[in-house]
Amino acid sequence: MTTETNLNDPLTEWCGHSGAVVDVVSGQEIIECVRCGFRHVVPLPTVDSLIETYATEYYRDEKPAYLIHAGEDYEWATLNYRDRLDMLTAHLSVGQRSLLDIGSGPGLFLKFAADCGWRVHGIDPSIQAAAHTREMGLPVTQAFFGSENVGDLGTFDVVHMNNMLEHVPNPRELVEKASTHLSENGLICIGVPNDYNPLQEALRDKGGFDPWWIVPSHHLNYFTFDSLNRLLTAAGFRVLSQTTSFPMELFLLMGDNYVGDDALGRSCHNKRKQFELLLQRAGQGNLRRELYEVFAKLGLGREAIVIAQKA
Ligand SMILES: [Zn+2]
Repeated sequence: MTTETNLNDPLTEWCGHSGAVVDVVSGQEIIECVRCGFRHVVPLPTVDSLIETYATEYYRDEKPAYLIHAGEDYEWATLNYRDRLDMLTAHLSVGQRSLLDIGSGPGLFLKFAADCGWRVHGIDPSIQAAAHTREMGLPVTQAFFGSENVGDLGTFDVVHMNNMLEHVPNPRELVEKASTHLSENGLICIGVPNDYNPLQEALRDKGGFDPWWIVPSHHLNYFTFDSLNRLLTAAGFRVLSQTTSFPMELFLLMGDNYVGDDALGRSCHNKRKQFELLLQRAGQGNLRRELYEVFAKLGLGREAIVIAQKA
């Protein structure tokens, strides 16, 4: 079960955000925020204070191996990209093939979608990531989405935000702003880490683990399927479908403690890649997709991935 608010938990209030303190990591409190409906760090940094970090430091300091690994992972990654586009097209008409990727990173998903015939545009604050996207000949705006210098992007059939909302101090505002870039019957697709999930809680309660998923230096918000769906509903969306990625906590439960061990983490990642690719090669891609939809229904899986439509 996820952590439940206990009447004995200390309460914190900060600038209109208030709720029980569910964890304190690196001196930063995580609250179950009553106003936002999801867990987040308090105090929250300002957008301005994050711009420098994400413009220059993130891919240099936090993700230095990203592109090397992306090369090694290409075949596996395209499985996921294919799944993502298939999930979207299931809810779109034949002519609806345009996609705005907010937090597009180095542009690998954009490239895949463009190669599949989609009209695409990326936005990312990182100078290095935007340069990589441009080198592949794809349109990208190097900026923080929500800032004044984004310019006129127009509308798209899909707005995609993967591993982005956990980083920003104003997710609800960004989802509402993203919805203004959607064409009629357009879809939003959001992927975030699925945190405080039942397997993580089991490892914390009985496995001797500290809550390793809390990284307040970069992750300000901690969503579950329920809290992400609540945010989307509050922002005027109707949730259409949800899925997840492999529940990496299974490795921890089986004794492979990759927390803080990058080499073992990479090894576990390679095992899940092997699992997914082998099923695919065996013609059982549908089984994999259905399995992950079932995991999502149970609140499990490493990510909460949700597709929703403007209500
Ligand atoms: Zn809040």
